[in-house]
Amino acid sequence: MGDGKPRRNTRQRQVVLEELRKLASHPTAVELYEIARRRLPKISLATVYRNLELLTRMGIARKLETRGGQARFDGDLDRHYHVRCVNCGRVDDVRGLPDNPVNGAVEEVSGYDVQGFRLEFFGVCPGCQGKFETETEDGGFNPQGYEVHERSGDV
Ligand SMILES: [Zn+2]
Ligand SMILES: [Zn+2]
Repeated sequence: MGDGKPRRNTRQRQVVLEELRKLASHPTAVELYEIARRRLPKISLATVYRNLELLTRMGIARKLETRGGQARFDGDLDRHYHVRCVNCGRVDDVRGLPDNPVNGAVEEVSGYDVQGFRLEFFGVCPGCQGKFETETEDGGFNPQGYEVHERSGDV
């Protein structure tokens, strides 16, 4: 108790949480590590990751389990949903949706006492929509195109 180690760990956790709460971008552990390092040059990626997991277990932060890619973290505990861009991977908040759109219906059908659910939206973010338009106009690379061509050749 008397030595400085527990205090240092607390300080690291505090910095990780403070920086997480400043960001609306749902950073990965690596992104948060780059930021935390400016305040605590000796902090390691493993420490940042461990603290994020701990904060999540304590219910102080949220871990976003998105399909593919690294886990992202959210310091905003207000009820909200997330939408992920399938092109660049950015994650934005979705607010103002109904609180509990399905729980009642699921309880009725399953007999479970439903405690929660995960809902992940995905699509193309405003920034990437512009990019796609440009690529199409240039006659850009279409990876699916040749497959269609092959099939039509069989007929
Ligand atoms: Zn995007
Ligand atoms: Zn969020």
